[in-house]
Amino acid sequence: MAFKKLKPATIAARAAGSTDAASAGVVPGIHLATTYMRGSDNALIRDDNQYGRDQNDTVRQAEEVLRQLEGAAATRLFPSGMAAIAALFRTIPNGGRVVVQSGIYWGATAWIRDFCARRGVALTEVEATDLAELTAACAEPADLVWIEVPSNPWLRVVDIAAAAALARQAGALLAVDATAATPVLMHPLALGADMVMHSATKAINGHTDVLAGVLSCADADSAVWQAITADRHDAGAILGPFEAWLLLRGMRTLPLRLERMCASAQAVAAFLQRHPGVEDVFYPGLQSHPGHDIATQQMTGGCGYLMSVLIRGGREVALAVAGRLELFHRATSLGGVESLIEHRHTVESDTGIPENLLRLSIGIEDVDDLIADLDQALNG
Ligand SMILES: *Cc1c(COP(=O)(O)O)cnc(C)c1O
Repeated sequence: MAFKKLKPATIAARAAGSTDAASAGVVPGIHLATTYMRGSDNALIRDDNQYGRDQNDTVRQAEEVLRQLEGAAATRLFPSGMAAIAALFRTIPNGGRVVVQSGIYWGATAWIRDFCARRGVALTEVEATDLAELTAACAEPADLVWIEVPSNPWLRVVDIAAAAALARQAGALLAVDATAATPVLMHPLALGADMVMHSATKAINGHTDVLAGVLSCADADSAVWQAITADRHDAGAILGPFEAWLLLRGMRTLPLRLERMCASAQAVAAFLQRHPGVEDVFYPGLQSHPGHDIATQQMTGGCGYLMSVLIRGGREVALAVAGRLELFHRATSLGGVESLIEHRHTVESDTGIPENLLRLSIGIEDVDDLIADLDQALNG
């Protein structure tokens, strides 16, 4: 059968066609070899396999699933989301300039600030959902514009196509951290971004048992992509084969999990918005959200699984609500099959996070059970 383009659920369920040729197994094996053989003529038996840093078929199979879902020219996996971010920023020349969205994943902001200070890179932090602010920041030349869509934990939604045009005017690449959207709900490369990054630790793996990060690009021949590829090979920030295999397994249900997670998140957000114990809900699927229109234009199939709420009554009430929950685990991270809740101010106290903010990651449990749990916790 000649399919022009397979749909995401088909790509994912079939792991982009990876099977085990050696055993005829439907499921690929885990390739653990750290080195590969040469023939009697001293030629490599397989040109693309010489040494396990960074040549590994299991890792390549996982990358191929992600590449197809993303619609990318090329994709590379890294041992964590932060390792993927670091691999990209290490391509910025000393003395260069980057424009970075403010109020994003705190681990990225903290690392980028430190990196730029050490390397003499000028850093402009900007509220990138405000296109006037982003335009001003892009008036001077830059090497990279970094945005996070939707942002964590504020769920702000930058207009990616507009940001791409502004980045181009500054001579910069646009890179998007799309962790909260996944490569199923949003395709930043099709909207004009040059690079997409995900923490695959989150919904991509989805089972809260793998740390991984991923970078995908629109142009595999670009100097930046070549530098990222060389850096991973030479500096060795590689994903282990077992983690890659778990990712391959987890991703088979990614589109299916997202269907449930998005539908449940929408229902949970609507419930929370109506509850008198809640001051505000940040979820792009709500019509009242300032990024709703752009989110629904940029995303298909739902607005994701992540949301934040402000609890009426302040810090102690918010902590008490979180403490009464029985189904939501109180833990950091997001995107797993099990729902999580976190009091962000506890881990990020000096960044302007309100003390009554709780961040929720909605899993695949029955939504009635989740809402009942939130209801009893809010009602005290
Ligand atoms: C978790 C996260 C990261 C970092 O990923 P790790 O896999 O934990 O290193 C980056 N960006 C966002 C939006 C995240 O949620």
